[in-house]
Amino acid sequence: MHPTLADDLSRLPEILQSARDVAAREVAGIGERPVAVAGPAPDAARLPEHGAGADAALASFTERWAPGFSGSAGPRYLGFVTGGATPASVAGDWLTSALDQNVSGAGGSWAQELERETVAWLRELFGLGEEHSGAFVTGATASNTVGLAIGREWLGERLGVDVFRAGAAALGPVDVLSGSPHSSVTKAMSVLGIGRDRLRPVPLLPGNREAVDVAALEAALAEREGRPAIVVANAGTVNTVDFDDLRAIAALKERYAFWLHVDAAFGGFAALSPDLAGLVDGLDAADSVCVDLHKWLNVPYDAAVQFTRRRDLQVKVFHNASPYLGLPDGEPDFLHLTPENSRRLRALPAWFSLVAYGRAGHREIVERNVALARRLGAGIEALPGLRLLAPVRLNVVCFTLAEDPSPERVAALARAVEASGEAYVTPTVYGEVPGLRAAFSNWRTTGADTERVLAALAKASG
Ligand SMILES: *Cc1c(COP(=O)(O)O)cnc(C)c1O
Repeated sequence: MHPTLADDLSRLPEILQSARDVAAREVAGIGERPVAVAGPAPDAARLPEHGAGADAALASFTERWAPGFSGSAGPRYLGFVTGGATPASVAGDWLTSALDQNVSGAGGSWAQELERETVAWLRELFGLGEEHSGAFVTGATASNTVGLAIGREWLGERLGVDVFRAGAAALGPVDVLSGSPHSSVTKAMSVLGIGRDRLRPVPLLPGNREAVDVAALEAALAEREGRPAIVVANAGTVNTVDFDDLRAIAALKERYAFWLHVDAAFGGFAALSPDLAGLVDGLDAADSVCVDLHKWLNVPYDAAVQFTRRRDLQVKVFHNASPYLGLPDGEPDFLHLTPENSRRLRALPAWFSLVAYGRAGHREIVERNVALARRLGAGIEALPGLRLLAPVRLNVVCFTLAEDPSPERVAALARAVEASGEAYVTPTVYGEVPGLRAAFSNWRTTGADTERVLAALAKASG
């Protein structure tokens, strides 16, 4: 063994302790450090010929790189839909790395069963029935891709083609109908050989809505004269967190042939609150469902879950047949369900958080975030320099300058907020008007944080 490795092996507990100390220091200060970091990153260093050992690596990281990391795990980073990492989930994530299980299959470990237990808990959390099975993937983009891949195989079943053998071209053109899909849906269409241009946008409800007009969807399906399609329903759009009427869309399946995929990346968390659960009523009727976990479950990146009612088709698409792995029968190993073969135990952080805080603890995060978004929305409405672009429907506040919201002026506002170090919001365009989004999804955010964000916005727009 290389002497530096041998030395690190002899000091492994101390090295883990040192990393813990750095993490504790960084996380303890996260509420007060600048929320976003400006300025150039250090110049790239050369590949080390001779290693310096883990302690020196830690010292180099804390000196060169850590000062340039954002406070995105903290309470006032409201860009994208970022979430954070609960204490228990961080502990679970560390152990995922430390114990380094390969959850492609059983492999002489109980880890795969732990993932199955976690998926079953999540299914219940999001109000899905036992006909849905699922697996962990890296994020909602991967989850949408898996869902659409199963949908593509379903189209083959309808048309008498094994897409997994013959390829996507054997299907001919595939149409994906959707109202306000996330950009990851067209990315998935590109990856899957469906093609980005095959998105068939369906009109939205009138009156400042991002939800699909179900009557227009029905008309589009009727026009197809029996040719099957994929419908992507959206449960939580990124700008205004609008929800398609899932129940009504699912009811159309009685008359029209389509695969119903629901992108509930963060909107699925409405199911945790009795007051909000109506927004995802009908989710269980979907053929495939995407929920992100590194957003509103507040587990570290990278974790999402995909569910489907057609695991048989999923195995057709993703089975990893090789002489020594064999073909799946019975309960398939995870390597037969998602794009990955070897996979880390990304269920463990979610398992930890669910054991630590339960349904009630996670419900509290969701409900508090929604209340804080409403509070910020009301505060913005009262500011002379800003106006809301849409009502605050759930956890995102979409707003812009009251006067002349040109792209340049809105970008300058975003930069001013970022430079204050007090908050981070991300630009968007809604209804052709440039604006900003403040998305609440972090477990640490309080009312006091929200007042600080409002003050920063008032200053930057005043
Ligand atoms: C964030 C998001 C995605 C993509 O999620 P990643 O985890 O970044 O891959 C997809 N759909 C919706 C609605 C989202 O909000």
